[in-house]
Amino acid sequence: MSSTKAYSRSRRMFLASLLGTAGGTAGLCALLADDKDNGAWKDPYVGKRRGGGFQPMLGAGEKIRITKLETLMVQPRWLFLKVHTDAGIVGLGEPVVEGRASTVAAAVKQLESYLVGKDPRSVVHHWQAMYRHAFYRGGPVLTSAISGIDMALWDIKGKALGVPVYELLGGPTRSRVRVYAHASTPEAIRARSKEGFTAFKTGVFKHRPARIVETPGFVKRVARRFEELREAAGDERDIGIDFHGAISPQTAKLLIKALEPYQPMFIEEPVQCQNVDVMADIARGTHLPIATGERVFTKWGFRELLEKGAATILQPDLCHAGGITEVRLIAGMAESYYAAIAPHNPLGPISLAAGLQIAGSIPNFLCQEQVHLGEGYIKQPFEVRDGYIDLPGGPGLGVELDEDALKEKLGHDWRNPQPYDADDGSVVDW
Ligand SMILES: [Mg+2]
Repeated sequence: MSSTKAYSRSRRMFLASLLGTAGGTAGLCALLADDKDNGAWKDPYVGKRRGGGFQPMLGAGEKIRITKLETLMVQPRWLFLKVHTDAGIVGLGEPVVEGRASTVAAAVKQLESYLVGKDPRSVVHHWQAMYRHAFYRGGPVLTSAISGIDMALWDIKGKALGVPVYELLGGPTRSRVRVYAHASTPEAIRARSKEGFTAFKTGVFKHRPARIVETPGFVKRVARRFEELREAAGDERDIGIDFHGAISPQTAKLLIKALEPYQPMFIEEPVQCQNVDVMADIARGTHLPIATGERVFTKWGFRELLEKGAATILQPDLCHAGGITEVRLIAGMAESYYAAIAPHNPLGPISLAAGLQIAGSIPNFLCQEQVHLGEGYIKQPFEVRDGYIDLPGGPGLGVELDEDALKEKLGHDWRNPQPYDADDGSVVDW
């Protein structure tokens, strides 16, 4: 008898002994039915679940060298990276800061002279060299450049060995990955639900930018809109709300208090995270989880959030925080604080692919943000079923670009919004 069957049998016997009497039979059946239905862990190495059949592209002892870095400006606001090698393996990455794609492309170009001629498989070594030899460490542009390169190097390594990246990181830790969609109206919640989503994120409903001190009317409108979303979603689906760091601390506290009865999944960026003490003060004032991380970089940035208890849901962006290498380490730090990882991702399918690899290799994953499943960009777009995407089985990041479809989408000049206060013309956050 296999160990799985033995466990299943002994568990049934244990449950039967607990319930014992005939009157307990219905309860036992219900328990066993639940046990069967929510049996989330299915052995990934059995049957067809992994896709399988991928051969290593490189034999043991074979050499491989990086030959070229190629960046592609891809609509609507993305930057894709191809790291070419002399073995014919091409690694994919997404090194971009929203609104600064060409700036990051220049930063990637500057790293090309270090990488060309090197073996791409020493991923962590290259991460250290790119980060520390810069002397001026971190920041959104330099760390995003490293992030995209890091993804591409992991992609190459996985393809060379014929396995998904999560296999190289000790996974899989799960068989499928929960994802959430953006939805800010009841109609959008219903439409996304029909598409298969069970988790959503909205923003703060505003008829104008929030003032430093807000009126009761503003606070009531925000709460009323969220109540409408809650009614549309019901009590068994999740809705996070993103303050986008565009709310003053005092108004954030009022909004959180007004939202508490509707139990958002999390409050994201209740304030900017440049002053972690302020966010920690807000976190202490509510039982709702505080989420943040899209504008935090590397393990050193996330250390302070954890130490000060400013957030219990970390949202590192695979394209900004330092790539797969760094987000895996951030997840380990978070685990020791009982904090969860919900990767930020308003970007493209390579970013999503990298997030899925992280989800498949860490224990404390919560939910993955996505805005695009890759139709028209990758050969096999992701599919959402019952709120989840199956863990990809392909080697590396598990995605291939649809080069023909991509030709129509090259080039963009995407600019960030530039909002001003309607009353006095002063600059406000977006
Ligand atoms: Mg956000």
